[in-house]
Amino acid sequence: MSIRVLEHTPAGLRRAVEALGERGYRADQIIDWVYAKACSDPQKMTNLPDALAGHITVLTSHVVARAASRDGTVKLLLELGDGERVECVGIPARQRVTACVSTQAGCAQGCTFCATGLDGLQRNLTAGEILEQVLNLTDAGGRRVTNVVFMGAGEPLANYDATVSAVRALIDSERFGISARSVTVSTVGLPGAIRRLAGEDLPITLAISLHAPNDALRRELMPAAPPLDDVLAAAATFYARRKREVTLEYVLLAGVNDSTLCAKGLARLAKRLRCNVNLIRYNPVAGVAYARPSEAAARAFLARLRRQGVNAHLRRSRGRDADAACGQLRRRPASHRQRT
Ligand code: SF4
Repeated sequence: MSIRVLEHTPAGLRRAVEALGERGYRADQIIDWVYAKACSDPQKMTNLPDALAGHITVLTSHVVARAASRDGTVKLLLELGDGERVECVGIPARQRVTACVSTQAGCAQGCTFCATGLDGLQRNLTAGEILEQVLNLTDAGGRRVTNVVFMGAGEPLANYDATVSAVRALIDSERFGISARSVTVSTVGLPGAIRRLAGEDLPITLAISLHAPNDALRRELMPAAPPLDDVLAAAATFYARRKREVTLEYVLLAGVNDSTLCAKGLARLAKRLRCNVNLIRYNPVAGVAYARPSEAAARAFLARLRRQGVNAHLRRSRGRDADAACGQLRRRPASHRQRT
């Protein structure tokens, strides 16, 4: 029997270790190696009996490709135990390292501007498979991850239980020990799941991928996304329950959703909530007919929002030379990747 460490709470790990006939304190030693020492190789856990080390698995995935950007951003393509592939990205800054993780292999949402959406959903990831992305990024970057954003492949709230288990592990002081305020779950806006998340005792940040100021354009860009009224009502519930300001994400697509009219519509929506708006200039994807707006056009859009009293920011693009847009490394032919 193999114990997959990342799938267990500390109490569950103790039970699993005891079921193998070992003393419960062995679980504390494993926890110390994995979370405090960032060691994922059981053979290097020198204070464990060999028989127990042979029953432990920390990583079920391995890195099959890696793309590094001049700005320090590292993108990893991981192959999971069953051959499915997912991406994760590490974004270092002076005071922090942000991990962007995937929650599904592929995605069912079919957003027309997204490389991941082109291939549909393969399967949900387990909580452990989400968490091992953080360990792989720690290893690749040589620094501890301080912030986690659930903004990689997949819709996190369509894989609710695994997402919430992973969040609990991230903010657990016995495990990753990351501040809940430094964890962001990003969703297209599944109203029922947002309300359920609001009822969890998790003071994390909720980000809603809006990308359009009206339902007609939103359906064109995000065919599976629920109506805006329902999404904003659920987001208002989240704010009321958690007292955490919601972030509205808006990818700027040149000539599609960056007009003066769109800015007015977005400002109207934003003012219905306690929220801030994050603008992102689109990263073009091969085979997808959307373009990145100029810096000047993005700044003009930002200024229009601010003039209407919206707390808005233009996110700095990171890792553009490392296939930064979601799903691009996964789709890129193997011969073009930098092998590890
Ligand atoms: S943008 Fe996000 S939700 Fe939409 S298809 Fe891509 S991964 Fe899925």
